[in-house]
Amino acid sequence: MLLRHTPKEVAERHALTINPAKTCQPVGAMYAALGIHKCLPHSHGSQGCCAYHRSALTRHYTEPIMGSTSSFTEGASVFGGQSNLMESITNIFALYNPDIIAVNTTCLSEVIGDDLTQIINRALADNKIPHGKTVIYASTPSFKGSHVTGYANMLSAMVQNFAKNTGKKNNAITLLPSFIEPSDMTEIKHIAEEMGIEYIMYPDTSGVVNAPMDGKFHMYPKGGTPKEKIQQSGDSRYALALGRVGTLQAAQLLDTKCKVKTDSIDLPIGISATDTFVDLLRRSSGVTVPESLQTERGQLVDVLCDKAQYVYGKKVSLMGDPDTLYGLVQFCKDAGMQVLHVVTGTPAGAKWERRVRELAGEGTTVKAGAQADLFYLHQLLQNNKPDLLFGNTYCKYIARDMDIPLIRTAFPIYDRIGHSYIPITGYRGGMHLLLKVLDIIMDRQDRDAPEEKFELVM
Ligand code: SF4
Repeated sequence: MLLRHTPKEVAERHALTINPAKTCQPVGAMYAALGIHKCLPHSHGSQGCCAYHRSALTRHYTEPIMGSTSSFTEGASVFGGQSNLMESITNIFALYNPDIIAVNTTCLSEVIGDDLTQIINRALADNKIPHGKTVIYASTPSFKGSHVTGYANMLSAMVQNFAKNTGKKNNAITLLPSFIEPSDMTEIKHIAEEMGIEYIMYPDTSGVVNAPMDGKFHMYPKGGTPKEKIQQSGDSRYALALGRVGTLQAAQLLDTKCKVKTDSIDLPIGISATDTFVDLLRRSSGVTVPESLQTERGQLVDVLCDKAQYVYGKKVSLMGDPDTLYGLVQFCKDAGMQVLHVVTGTPAGAKWERRVRELAGEGTTVKAGAQADLFYLHQLLQNNKPDLLFGNTYCKYIARDMDIPLIRTAFPIYDRIGHSYIPITGYRGGMHLLLKVLDIIMDRQDRDAPEEKFELVM
């Protein structure tokens, strides 16, 4: 009911965000850190921050997410968090024995101005970091950016701390995925494996945040990229960054630091973008596309042709993370849908906005940044109602208020499961996504059909 008070008229806002279309930086940094094997994410700030970061990830993945905190109280807030972090490092290695601690900062520690490089060097000098173990950190002040920025910063920290150019190239291609589900990471690996390509991918959260239940507690599940593999990425013959916003910084660093030739492409969501990914893998490795992938592609094309009449011309609005959004817009265009609005709380930049507008069409409203919030999205929808809305769980209030079917494709998703097991990337992911869209459109058609038009075969 409260949403009924959202006015249709859109007013310019500069200093106010209402219902942000994002979460905070450390959430993304923690998620990326979980994609390294035997890595414990550590939140350098108050317990409240860490509780929020962990609960956001735990609720989204319905898995217990491990993470530690520097537990700031009043003293640390005034005098700085050095002693808290030093004590944390000692306790974490003694109690939880990770190979790596990946520290992310918080608003509080950033405002205080804690010098993490100095603190970690001091911990090294004081022998608080056992031999063979590592502490890395990413600066993740949440008064700017979003969880995607935090993910990007932690991914860069991985390249900065681990990737090494030994001068002897290996045969692997390095894959750097943007903030995507573990199911999508699995799908990307599936494509590379089907093509017989040697690869190193990081982070890789598959088998960590969607690990199988075997009745035992695993502090560190089997998944995650081993540290040695990340080191070897500095010698890889080629690197492919998937999703430009979440990986740009890390891709550039891998190129400049280790002299690895790197290309950036969009996430392989839908037929066109997956074709681009597969073709780049094929050309860079001199292999042919196997029949198994051609079959997956052919099946997706088949369903799209068979049911085009249900999706063609449908009006859609989308909110979410910039890289996933670009892929989803491409998917919608492939299916002949009309994209009305694209909104992300991540400050993805003018270039991203321009690219999405070019892809979606000039009539599409595209906005990124703090004022591109759910309040703004609701206003846009009131002025031009779509047939479908893509977004996260928070969009359900708008969807219910306006009776628009919602497809959950953005972070976080708290009220449905499946996203961590079922991909939207690759040809198989495109099939899942298309079936989801078709189901929701056809269910709606059945619900609203008059008696004489209620058909058994649609
Ligand atoms: S204070 Fe900052 S880091 Fe902590 S939960 Fe809030 S936004 Fe995130």
